[in-house]
Amino acid sequence: MFTHKFPLKFQNPQIQLIFATVYSTIFYMMEEAIIEKTVAALRRNHFEVFIATDKEDARRIFFNEIFPHLQVESVSWGDSETMKATGVLDELRKHPELAVINTFAPDMSRAQKIYWRRKALTADLFLSGSNAVTQKGQLVNLDMIGNRVGGIVFGPKQVVLFIGINKITEDLEAAMQRVRTIAAPRNAMRHEGFRTPCRKTGVCMDCNSPDRICNVWSITEKSFPAGRIKIVLIREELGL
Ligand code: SF4
Repeated sequence: MFTHKFPLKFQNPQIQLIFATVYSTIFYMMEEAIIEKTVAALRRNHFEVFIATDKEDARRIFFNEIFPHLQVESVSWGDSETMKATGVLDELRKHPELAVINTFAPDMSRAQKIYWRRKALTADLFLSGSNAVTQKGQLVNLDMIGNRVGGIVFGPKQVVLFIGINKITEDLEAAMQRVRTIAAPRNAMRHEGFRTPCRKTGVCMDCNSPDRICNVWSITEKSFPAGRIKIVLIREELGL
C-alpha cells in the first residue's frame, strides 16, 4: 500500500524533478494521514501504540519504553518476519532471568513443537506481528494451527506486536483480501516441503491440501484488558 515511485518519465529533467517532488510530497502527506488515523483508531480500541522510524528504532523502543515496565519471567513468540527483523528476540535471549520458550527449534519433532507451542500460551510475554491492521484499528491474522493467533487472543499476560506500515489496510474486507492474496501465498513459499498449489503459482487457490497454512482467522477488535496488546508500528515495509 505504501510503495510509491513516480510513475511518469519526462524528457526534461527539471520537469521530471518538479513533478516527482510534488508527487512525493502529496504521497507523504497521504501516508501520514493514514498512519495518524490508524494510530488514533488503535488507541481508541485500547491498544497501546508506539511509532518507530525503522526496525532498529523498534528494538530501541521495545527495550527502553516497553520491556522495563512489563515484569515478565517468561517469553515466547509466534512466527513473524517483522518481529525477527527487529532483533528483539536475539537481545532477549541474553537475559538470563528470562525463561525463553522456543517453539521453532529446527531439531524439534512436530510433536515437540506442538508441545512447546501449547506451553507458549502460558508465557508472560508473547511477541509476534500481524498480517494486517485496519485503519479502524482492528488486527487481522490467519494461521495454520492457531498457535500465533492463540497467543495474541488469550493466554500470555502481555503481547507485543511489531507491524510495518505496509500492513495497514482500509477496512476488514481489504485486510482479509491482503492476507489471502499476498501474505498467505508468500508465507507458504517459506515452508519447504509443503504441498500447496500457491507454492508453485504464487497465487492462492483456496486449496484443500493437508499442508494448507490458512485455517484459523482472528479479528482483534479491541485489546482486553486495555493495554494488554502493545503495537510497535514501524514506518517501513516489513514482513509478508
Ligand atoms: S489456502 Fe492453500 S493455496 Fe491458498 S494461500 Fe493458503 S495454502 Fe496457499
